[in-house]
Amino acid sequence: MELTRLRGFRDLIGADARAMSLVEERARAIFDRYSIKEIRIPVLERTQLYSRSSGETSDVVEKQMYTFTDRDEGETAVALRPEGTPGVVRAYVEAGLDRTDPEQRLFYSGPMFRRERPQKGRYRQFYQFGVEIFGRPDAASDAELLIMIDELCRDLKLPFTMEVNSIGDQKCRPAFREALVQWGRAHWDELDDDCHNRIDRNPLRLLDCKKDAKVTESAPKSLDYLCDECRAHFDIVKELLTAANVQYIVNPRMVRGLDYYTRTAFEVMASGLGAQSTIVAGGRYDGLVETMGGTAIAGIGFAIGVDRMALALEAAGVTPTIAPDAAIISMGPAAMRHAVIVARDLRAANLNVEMLSPERKMKSLLARASKIGARFAVIIGDDELARGVVQLRDLNESTQREVAVAEAARAIAEAREE
Ligand code: ATP
Ligand code: MG
Repeated sequence: MELTRLRGFRDLIGADARAMSLVEERARAIFDRYSIKEIRIPVLERTQLYSRSSGETSDVVEKQMYTFTDRDEGETAVALRPEGTPGVVRAYVEAGLDRTDPEQRLFYSGPMFRRERPQKGRYRQFYQFGVEIFGRPDAASDAELLIMIDELCRDLKLPFTMEVNSIGDQKCRPAFREALVQWGRAHWDELDDDCHNRIDRNPLRLLDCKKDAKVTESAPKSLDYLCDECRAHFDIVKELLTAANVQYIVNPRMVRGLDYYTRTAFEVMASGLGAQSTIVAGGRYDGLVETMGGTAIAGIGFAIGVDRMALALEAAGVTPTIAPDAAIISMGPAAMRHAVIVARDLRAANLNVEMLSPERKMKSLLARASKIGARFAVIIGDDELARGVVQLRDLNESTQREVAVAEAARAIAEAREE
């Protein structure tokens, strides 16, 4: 047996990992400004949690979950989380917040697991950064989330498009669902087996039929079936987005894959990502808390696909730097000791500094400094040590001058600002 990683699972090293944490850092900073608090939930939960919330007929529950039986007395069926929302709702209800303090604004982040066919932007372990807002049935909260997502994508300098739709609620959705079933039966021959199965089991997903996008052009649109309340809600969402200067497109064919969504649904697509271009997806789920055994409390949320957002950054040429500002080169045992202190002083001046192994020759050390992308080499030998200076070498311009450590720090910082 080869000890290789599993299909669909990735190792992210250096710049690739940095792109992911950059997305997470920026999202976290923006969520702070929207007063969204962190929640950490388990990676392993009861399998039932997902079948109850996401729906037995959703793709995630039907075919994508990693499940096994725990070796406890009850032989509990457990699953690696395929998404964050059910766990957050469970935690919210389990902590009694639906009764004691129902208005909550929470974010989670971490790995999710889905056993689907791996391809670019689609992995079996991927990362989500998600938000769930509880106790806010009003359209202002939908708009606020969309404004926040718009802000994040613009902050990351990503080219993107935002699509919104309303899929109605318990009152008006049944008629839309029925219309889809009728449409599906009438267009049976144009649909593939996958979609034939959806007609009775999960008719909303008929709109996701991948075989031929043209087929669904004649399908009924959710917006034509909205009740007055759902329509008024959606109108306010659109009005607020326009007022906030958020660019969006109404896509009356967009549905979400999970059963619990009501009213507002949305997706953000990044340009230049090909088939797996959806980087943010979410919507309102007003019935979910009750379904999960809590009180009837409204909810709305979304998840950022962090892996795809990192790919989008790369496609847009917005790659985070992992190169240090300076590499420290020391020649000889006494200079090496001094170099530790010089490195500390430069880091105290907020510079990113990497010390190179003292065991090599100057030529290979300079080559190493260039290889790791450092703009400067700070060179210290016994002579520099004795005179309290360093040689500051600009590796871009191949110039070198002798300066005091404080002056080196200033020059390096200045070059970074350029
Ligand atoms: P898709 O239609 O691409 O399968 P989905 O509807 O299953 O997406 P959600 O469950 O809404 O996706 O998850 C939200 C986001 O998480 C997606 O928009 C995507 O960015 C990301 N995501 C979902 N599945 C994967 C995966 N297997 N690999 C990488 N990212 C994923
Ligand atoms: Mg999917």
